[in-house]
Amino acid sequence: MYHRVAAFRGLLFTRRALAPSTRLFSSSRPTFLNSLDTLSDDEEMFRDSVRRFAKDVVAPKVREMDENEMMDPTIIKGLFEQGLMGIEIPSELGGAESSFTSAVLTIEELAKIDPSVSVMCDVHNTLVNTVVRKYGTKEQREKYLPLLAQSKRSELLVVQLGSFCLSEAASGSDAFALQTRAKKEGNNWIINGSKMWITNSYEADIFLIFANIDPSKGYKGITCFLATRDMGIQISKKEEKLGIRASSTCTLNFDDLKVPEENVIGGEGKGYKIAIEILNEATSSGRIGIAAQMVGLAQGAFDKAVPYTYQRHQFGQPVGTFQGMAFSIAQAATDLEAARLLTYNAARRRDEGKSFTKEAAMAKYYASVVAQKVSGQAIEWAGGVGFTRETGIEKFWRDSKIGAIYEGTSNIQLQTIAKFIQKEYS
Ligand SMILES: Cc1cc2nc3c(=O)[nH]c(=O)nc-3n(C[C@H](O)[C@H](O)[C@H](O)COP(=O)(O)OP(=O)(O)OC[C@H]3O[C@@H](n4cnc5c(N)ncnc54)[C@H](O)[C@@H]3O)c2cc1C
Repeated sequence: MYHRVAAFRGLLFTRRALAPSTRLFSSSRPTFLNSLDTLSDDEEMFRDSVRRFAKDVVAPKVREMDENEMMDPTIIKGLFEQGLMGIEIPSELGGAESSFTSAVLTIEELAKIDPSVSVMCDVHNTLVNTVVRKYGTKEQREKYLPLLAQSKRSELLVVQLGSFCLSEAASGSDAFALQTRAKKEGNNWIINGSKMWITNSYEADIFLIFANIDPSKGYKGITCFLATRDMGIQISKKEEKLGIRASSTCTLNFDDLKVPEENVIGGEGKGYKIAIEILNEATSSGRIGIAAQMVGLAQGAFDKAVPYTYQRHQFGQPVGTFQGMAFSIAQAATDLEAARLLTYNAARRRDEGKSFTKEAAMAKYYASVVAQKVSGQAIEWAGGVGFTRETGIEKFWRDSKIGAIYEGTSNIQLQTIAKFIQKEYS
């Protein structure tokens, strides 16, 4: 013990000797760095208003939308009216010009009530808006960002929902094996092919389509095009799914779809870079969005089931007070906290301009594991009623499965994390 105290004193002494101007002891309050869940006023305002919107507007429609497998149009309109569809878009272009963390909080809050509404907002903000904002020309930004943002400040509300069209029947994890082709004809590109699993596409007006303009160049021929519904996009099939059933997931066909040359985003042959950066590398915003969706989902299930365990009595006491139940709840709360902090940390790193690819992959991977586990446990905590549709707890569990699949499966996240570890240690 003596040695440890002496060593600690020695450390203090050394620090003082090395930095004579540093005051180790001061009567004024020391400055601390913020905890990860400290929010700016702007972010707090965002979170509170989304929370109200989710509770008042979304919650009453959740079950009906799930059963009808259809998003209520008033919710889409409401999201735009609340300014939640252009969170990072500059204010002069109609957006809220807030932080990425605000987007993450929005996605999380919506998912606590309905993960389907959450993913609609997520894809629009973190994928579509980010691509146009980061890679669009000045003209493209000025033309499309106000349509994608459409905050309540605009007088005439024309809702323009966005979708991100990369996956195809034969190219999922191996996204660059895509078969959709584009050929130049005069001042237009003619796109032929099809896309599968496209979120928001049933309701969307703006489509970011990835197609190869020169297959001889391999993935370096992949180009991103911005198309609008009126150019002739065909929805050929709407999927019937296990979860997030109100979120549309469709197959799209492009049959000589004519897109003007000025609608190439980020330059010819640069689509692979955009897709990598958005989904995987430098920006990987989408993955943090899905992590936030999974954190909100787990919290939503927890919030529904835990109060019930203190109301429901068996053997003369609330079931939540049996040690077996209490420990299970405590473990779930800890898992949830860890998932949330991983997610917030990745979001903060993006706002700070630091690298965050590994952190985003960890957040998405872990949050999807936690979402599945916690929502599954929540059903069990509530017993038989948890298994019925009436409580809405089972819906969270159904919805949780997708977290390990879209925007890179769990194996793909682990592959990303493993690459970083190998680079660091070999
Ligand atoms: C509801 C829903 C919404 C979606 N929304 C969109 C959207 O808006 N836009 C879009 O472009 N796409 C979207 N997708 C597609 C989604 O991104 C893909 O489903 C996902 O990338 C996985 O591709 P896959 O389904 O072809 O699976 P596959 O790639 O065929 O994977 C099958 C299995 O093989 C494993 N696997 C594959 N490769 C490897 C590897 N190298 N190492 C280890 N394991 C591997 C996977 O982890 C998985 O377990 C959506 C999908 C769903 C289900």
